[in-house]
Amino acid sequence: MIKTRKLLLVDDDRLYHSLMQQMVKGFRSGPFELDEALTYAEGLKKMVSGKYAACLLDYHLGDRDGLTLLREARIAGCDTPAIVLTADDSEEADIAAMNAGAADYLVKGDLTPRLLERALRYTLKLDETLAKLRQFSQRDELTKLLNRREFQRILDEEWDRSVRFQRPFSIVMVDVDHFKRINDTHGHQAGDEVLRHVASLLAGQVRNVDRVTRYGGEEFAIIMVETDGKSAVEAIKRLGVLLAETPCVVNSKLTLAVTFSAGVACSQGAVRANELVAAADEALYAAKKAGRNRIGLENDTTFSFK
Ligand code: GH3
Ligand code: MG
Ligand code: MG
Repeated sequence: MIKTRKLLLVDDDRLYHSLMQQMVKGFRSGPFELDEALTYAEGLKKMVSGKYAACLLDYHLGDRDGLTLLREARIAGCDTPAIVLTADDSEEADIAAMNAGAADYLVKGDLTPRLLERALRYTLKLDETLAKLRQFSQRDELTKLLNRREFQRILDEEWDRSVRFQRPFSIVMVDVDHFKRINDTHGHQAGDEVLRHVASLLAGQVRNVDRVTRYGGEEFAIIMVETDGKSAVEAIKRLGVLLAETPCVVNSKLTLAVTFSAGVACSQGAVRANELVAAADEALYAAKKAGRNRIGLENDTTFSFK
């Protein structure tokens, strides 16, 4: 069965809503369901809910406008594609819509069901392509975790936030122990399976606000917001115990015990973001030196997981 896709029309003209309902009902590329918002506030709330495949925004919304709404939605992290509808057939309005982040711009007076359906089809196709590009540029192919580029971007962002609001955050470097042996003994595919296993355990256990990334090879970097070094150590200890209790099953016949070592550094006391990576690396190195399957805190001792 083909899934019904939800569309949102934000327009302060009730009559226009019924006209658009008629147009959408006749779409051949559907099925679509058109939801409505009559005010700026309602439109913004619905748009950022992330429930819609695309939004149709009226340019004039009472004393406010659809482009401001679109900009506000984008700042709130909404990437739902939007088509701007306007009575004004001018090049300025067209360019302003594009600059605000609209996928297309349609003049109300020229609108036919066919034209609207075609604009919508192109918009949805573009959105699908952009989502794929985003996936390729932000995610690691093997584990589907955020990649190193995203780690650096989030680190810089969290650093700025922590300086501004005087709030701590911690980063944790995690490195699988003796991983080369797994590759050498059981082959690279088993090694890949172990990486996926560790990645899904880490990503499944941290809080929603924390970010787990693949730093490279068998190393993962976790960003824990609003967390000091000691709390990060406690959180990672829990993960270390859990991994030791959850062996990796490869091809439903081979069961491999896996451990990791980790190093923690907190933003408090650091002068630059990248200092944190170096400090966490050093703590990780200390944990490896102290016998692996442990965690190190910067300028401090190392701890076993239990
Ligand atoms: P240590 O406990 O000191 O961390 O030892 P280790 O063997 O885990 O570390 P080492 O740096 O010697 O080896 C890491 C290996 O990880 C080497 C590399 O070939 C392998 N590796 C890196 N990326 C991948 C990958 O995507 N898949 C697989 N299967 N192996 C990988
Ligand atoms: Mg390594
Ligand atoms: Mg390793």
